[in-house]
Amino acid sequence: MIFLKTDDEIELLRQSNLLVAKTLAEIAKMIKPGVTTKELDKIAEEYIRDNGAIPTFKGFPNPYNAKAPFPASICTSVNDQVVHGIPNDVPLKEGDIVSVDCGALLNGYCGDSAYTFCVGDVDAEVLNLLKTTKEALYKGINEAVHGKRVGDIGFAVQAYCESRSYSVVREFVGHGIGRQMHEDPYVPNYGKKGNGILLRKGMCIAIEPMIAQGARQIYMDDDQWSVRTRDHKCAAHFEHTVAIGLEKADILSSFEYIEEVLGDKAI
Ligand code: MG
Ligand code: MG
Repeated sequence: MIFLKTDDEIELLRQSNLLVAKTLAEIAKMIKPGVTTKELDKIAEEYIRDNGAIPTFKGFPNPYNAKAPFPASICTSVNDQVVHGIPNDVPLKEGDIVSVDCGALLNGYCGDSAYTFCVGDVDAEVLNLLKTTKEALYKGINEAVHGKRVGDIGFAVQAYCESRSYSVVREFVGHGIGRQMHEDPYVPNYGKKGNGILLRKGMCIAIEPMIAQGARQIYMDDDQWSVRTRDHKCAAHFEHTVAIGLEKADILSSFEYIEEVLGDKAI
């Protein structure tokens, strides 16, 4: 079932998503060679709780194993990890990329946003993957308008990435968001123009392209969370939560705080 949100509910979603945006900016301050993803997780959890919210990822049920809920407050996916990487004690090193996905529940509404960071200087080809994935996110957001369809979003993301010889991971998709982090509808990063669920004002969705530098095939690590590319080439992930608008989407999350921290190193 798709829940349409009132303007008041959308403002509450904006507050949750701005908290996520600021949490990601706290992480941006920390990212450098030598820092571990567990250290990033600690910063994120403290920041979310200090601001009166709950990290929605922590304890999130594992669809494949009831005994292995997600153990951390952020997903940290390094290099060939696509999504759902579990923070660990391995120091990040110069040239890595790390996608950080963050969720928070504030006043009953969920925020969800992700950004892929460079650790020091990154190979030009990998940097191009990051830029393309972020641009693809905004191509998708441009389609998140009343009267269009979910397939229009997927088509825009897919066409843009594939025109640059990247591939779209299909097993994981964007989603409706509200009181629950994952609501209907699914929002794939591939699709056909004019296909799928009709988009209506008041729908709130997370759009989150997961784009591979090489082939789109993936597998899951033994931890039953981390998803990796089979060819071990890099993958990137950017995510915004948006409200469908009559003329254009209202982006409820933000990269502004992150990019203030990154300065001229922003992608
Ligand atoms: Mg997310
Ligand atoms: Mg999401």
